[in-house]
Amino acid sequence: MSNIRGKVVIIMGASSGIGEATTKKLAQEEAKLVIAARREDRLKALVESLPNANISYLKSDVTNKEEVKAVVDLAIEKYGRVDVLYNNAGVMPLAPLSETRFDEWRQMLDINIMGVLNGLAAVLPIMKKQQSGHVVATDSVAGHAVWPGSAVYSGTKFAVRAIMEGLRQEERETSIRSTMISPGAVDTELYDTINDPEVQESARNSARTEGYGIKSEDVADAVVYAIGTPETVSISEILIRPTKQAL
Ligand code: NDP
Repeated sequence: MSNIRGKVVIIMGASSGIGEATTKKLAQEEAKLVIAARREDRLKALVESLPNANISYLKSDVTNKEEVKAVVDLAIEKYGRVDVLYNNAGVMPLAPLSETRFDEWRQMLDINIMGVLNGLAAVLPIMKKQQSGHVVATDSVAGHAVWPGSAVYSGTKFAVRAIMEGLRQEERETSIRSTMISPGAVDTELYDTINDPEVQESARNSARTEGYGIKSEDVADAVVYAIGTPETVSISEILIRPTKQAL
């Protein structure tokens, strides 16, 4: 029997891409799911496409800590516990620093870093009381490397790596597990969040070129693997790249 069956899993950023693919795979594994994002219509359509799943959704912006807590409250109300929080929401408006896109810098810090912290704040008291739990975050190869145009995005993903490693060290005695899923290029809507037209075209084309971009489902497989390992095993990070990716 799958170790995932019956686990209560919350997925933030489930309306497209990696979060959507992970929702589908975890539904197949018979997890109990609560999914969230800002685009409610997409969440509703996803839930309706999974008629046999045990799944609820709630509109939530990860930058708003009350809205994030409401998602966790919904999981507690429905199932009485939280086994896994998957902090997957993120944006990637890549651009050279010299363009001084202050609003995009702020948006990346708020969503990619504060979003993760808002999720952590909402589940940690519950998981500490349970003396068990698992926090998963989508980090990135950009959490290990910087290239021209990635400085701020990479900065947010470096920060998430520090936070997740800190969580591992602080909570190992309470058996709360910490996992980073760090993909290279994945062909998703993330490239729509790049507003610099040249940067968007080159990044998107690269992720869509056969062999240079993997699929959301490939990343979702890594999430399912990490969640399915025994409670005594902590998968700290999975780096998963397209075979032909250079960086
Ligand atoms: P998508 O754009 O398809 O998915 C991003 C998800 O994040 C969507 O569900 C979106 O939902 C959600 N999201 C964005 N902002 C917010 C917010 N403020 N509040 C709540 N949800 C939000 O792209 P991916 O699937 O590629 O991205 C998922 C994660 O993977 C991100 O953290 C990204 O940084 C990371 N990643 C992606 C890579 C890639 O090449 N695609 C490579 C490495 C890492 P909505 O807009 O409805 O709110």
